Amino acid sequence: MTWLPLADGVFARRHADLDLTLGLVVGAERCLVVDTGPDAGFGAEFAAAVRAVTALPCAAVITHAHWDHYLGTSAFDLEHLWAHPAAVAEIAHGTAAQIDGWVAHDPDREDRLRRSPVVVPDAAYPARVDLGGRVVEIAHLGPAHTPGDLVVRVGDVLFAGDLVEQGAPPQVGPDADRASWVEVLGRLGDPRVVVPGHGDPVDLAFVRAQRQGLARGDHG
Ligand SMILES: [Zn+2]
Repeated sequence: MTWLPLADGVFARRHADLDLTLGLVVGAERCLVVDTGPDAGFGAEFAAAVRAVTALPCAAVITHAHWDHYLGTSAFDLEHLWAHPAAVAEIAHGTAAQIDGWVAHDPDREDRLRRSPVVVPDAAYPARVDLGGRVVEIAHLGPAHTPGDLVVRVGDVLFAGDLVEQGAPPQVGPDADRASWVEVLGRLGDPRVVVPGHGDPVDLAFVRAQRQGLARGDHG
């Protein structure tokens, strides 16, 4: 589990657990974490790794309201916790059902999930955050993998959450909107690097191929 430098002050962190990929952006005055991981213990390790890089005050963005992206939040001391309003509602009201659904097929994870406090994000998120010499844009491009996906852009790096997955097919669950997702993947702009929610960072050619697959009806 090491940091993958993507640009000046921009890092991805790959984890064997769930093949997760999380993010960190460091400016001159503050830092921003992208997703916090699947449980409090994991979050504690991730938070320590962040603190090994920077002691600056930190905020976090949750890319979407799937438990594996936000149940690590309680381990962080954050200035702000941002998510899309639809994701905020799901985190507040849907987490227990998500955990019940997951442990039905992965009972070994039950203790870790049930012991992870749910931290509900702020009611609104900013479209633009200046971390001190490094500006981050946070955007909702339409319903896709979930009703409330956010992407995080810093320079030519785009953190895409589960709009893109590498190493496994994108997960098209009951909360996904496939037709809109296909449209959303055409609105990512022209990033040099796209960081998926699971798997290694990819380029736009990879995203285009995944978009075509979704449009064809692949992946569930
Ligand atoms: Zn997801």
